[in-house]
Amino acid sequence: MSRVVGVYGASGCGRGILPLLRASHGTGETRFLFIDDGCAVDTVNETPVIRWDEFLSRPESDKLVAIAVANSHVRERLANKCSDGGITLTGARAASVVEMDDVAIGEGALLSPFVTLTSNIRIGKCFHANLYSYVEHDCVIGDFVTFAPRVSCNGNVRIEDHAYIGTGAVIRQGTPEKPLVIGKGAVVGMGAVVTKDVPAGTTVVGNPARPLIKG
Ligand code: UDP
Repeated sequence: MSRVVGVYGASGCGRGILPLLRASHGTGETRFLFIDDGCAVDTVNETPVIRWDEFLSRPESDKLVAIAVANSHVRERLANKCSDGGITLTGARAASVVEMDDVAIGEGALLSPFVTLTSNIRIGKCFHANLYSYVEHDCVIGDFVTFAPRVSCNGNVRIEDHAYIGTGAVIRQGTPEKPLVIGKGAVVGMGAVVTKDVPAGTTVVGNPARPLIKG
């Protein structure tokens, strides 16, 4: 069986993910490519960049795609595109990732070097956990959630779909009776210290984290 693995997105995220896929799939019969609809060059880091329709018409019998785009709404759109095209999503995980007991993680997760997932954790589709982020015990994370580097997510936290957690943010632990909740589509700014629930769609910044006042 011949196999091709496409990394959707040939920008910063994709360039960090392709080496993880190469390491985990081995180089034997598997071909690796970038898929990008807006890239102006033919190769990135010595790897061909092709368009989606070219990918679909590739001759390999087994086609997998890793969606390496930080924007969660784009990620969802591309995941649906893969599903419509009959293409299976693949995840990527660095060899240094630590995963303890009873972790259930949905399809398409990208786990960068030094990510730690401790025990009794549930995570949805297409999670991105960037360098050095951790998820502690009893957390529940929705679909298309993004962690920038070094996010510290302590125990009993619930993070809803499409939330974005910025670099170095720290999320206080909740309790089994009252998890700390970061609502759907919320954004937590870089370095924020989240001590209480963040409502859906709200951007919070600072220590303690408070809603961002635009102006
Ligand atoms: N992209 C794409 N198809 C889409 C949306 C995005 O190929 O429908 C590509 C886009 O051309 C870009 C990459 O995905 O090369 C996203 O890169 P970006 O610089 O936004 O940041 P990153 O997600 O890598 O941090």
